[in-house]
Amino acid sequence: MNVCVLGAQWGDEGKGKIVDLLTPRFSIVARYQGGHNAGHTVYVRGRKFVLHLIPSGILHPGIICVIGNGVVVDPLALFAELDEIAGMGVDATGRLLVSDKAHVILPYHRELDVLAEARRGERKIGTTSRGIGPAYEDKIGRRGIRVGDLADASIDGPLASAVRENVAARNRLVGNVDMSADQVLADVRRVWPRLHPLVTDVSLYLHRAIAAGQRVMFEGAQGTLLDIDHGTYPFVTSSNATAGGAATGLGLGPRAIGTVIGVAKAYTTRVGEGPLPTEQTGEIGERLRETGQEYGASTGRPRRCGWYDAVAVRYAVRVNGLDALAITKLDVLDGLETLEVCTAYRCNGTILTEMPGDTAQLTGCEPVYETLPGWKTPTRGITEFEKLPAEAQAYVRRIEETSGIPAAIISTGSERDHTILRKEFEKFV
Ligand code: GDP
Repeated sequence: MNVCVLGAQWGDEGKGKIVDLLTPRFSIVARYQGGHNAGHTVYVRGRKFVLHLIPSGILHPGIICVIGNGVVVDPLALFAELDEIAGMGVDATGRLLVSDKAHVILPYHRELDVLAEARRGERKIGTTSRGIGPAYEDKIGRRGIRVGDLADASIDGPLASAVRENVAARNRLVGNVDMSADQVLADVRRVWPRLHPLVTDVSLYLHRAIAAGQRVMFEGAQGTLLDIDHGTYPFVTSSNATAGGAATGLGLGPRAIGTVIGVAKAYTTRVGEGPLPTEQTGEIGERLRETGQEYGASTGRPRRCGWYDAVAVRYAVRVNGLDALAITKLDVLDGLETLEVCTAYRCNGTILTEMPGDTAQLTGCEPVYETLPGWKTPTRGITEFEKLPAEAQAYVRRIEETSGIPAAIISTGSERDHTILRKEFEKFV
């Protein structure tokens, strides 16, 4: 059975660690959306790896990693990442495949990203300014350039005219210095020799691999509440981070997905703008940020931190069809006297137990909390559920009750072996 692992909150849930942990059970790890704005931090034997575009499965010898059509690819960022991991002794030769249908991020996308964010002023979204949003805009606007298009070496063929048209559009928008279409074209042509050997019909490749009995893990980037359709729009990313994205982003039918695991932190964080009902701006927020090291893996930005939001995770269970949770960073709560869990929102005097679709309404919501006792002894590094302090077990059980699904995995530290894999829920992973 194939497994999809995705974020059940606002991203940065620790998906990288969970994907890395489960990878030995699979032959292939496939990314289906997002770009190099994602930042997966993985610690292996004390060494830190930060992967942005390449699935973290690459750190395991023999695993094939796939970048699907739903991803937007900045070839230079991809090469930089390949060089970086090569420098750390990871050989990706022959193990990385890129869809010919993935859209390419070009230099003007990065500029347009900065420009669009500046124009939004007070209503800024807090993007990473890496050109990802504008590349997706071009995709939906049907003027994008796809990886497979880069094969066209003719002087005045479809690639050259698409680049010229897009650069001309950029020059009309960005008033200061004109960008040279010839220069962009020359840069684009330069990446092809290195990119070419990686380019594949990913849908066909995966279809055949699955038919031959290979197991695939689908790796989501960002998180459910950042999904372009189901997140807190407009404070979202430009792609479908939810489970449906795995089918469209790789060219597979929904039945190929198998089980869906939602990764959720034992508390809540969010980077960038937008509503975060359980946000703690005071001492608790600071405590979670420092203990959890809640600073963006891609940008270093401090993350906004707050209590566990059961309404948000329950919503993730619904829109993704989650089978089980992987709860991460339980150890970050070690030593807190009491813990709050948000079980509903109070909006204009009404109690909501489901996530409202209207972002403005959500912004005005107050969390309704349930208080649970904290635990005195540390959970860090514990590998068996029964060895957790009773209060920590009760906390996890409350998360299971409020979400309606089991916590198959509980992470108690950043290392691979700081993990509880619960035998009774093994069937989900
Ligand atoms: P991702 O994008 O969802 O993979 O999340 P990030 O990589 O941005 O953030 C996860 C961070 O938390 C990384 O630095 C991980 O090493 C770390 N981490 C993951 N699980 C745990 C855990 O259970 N406890 C602690 N203390 N750190 C963890």
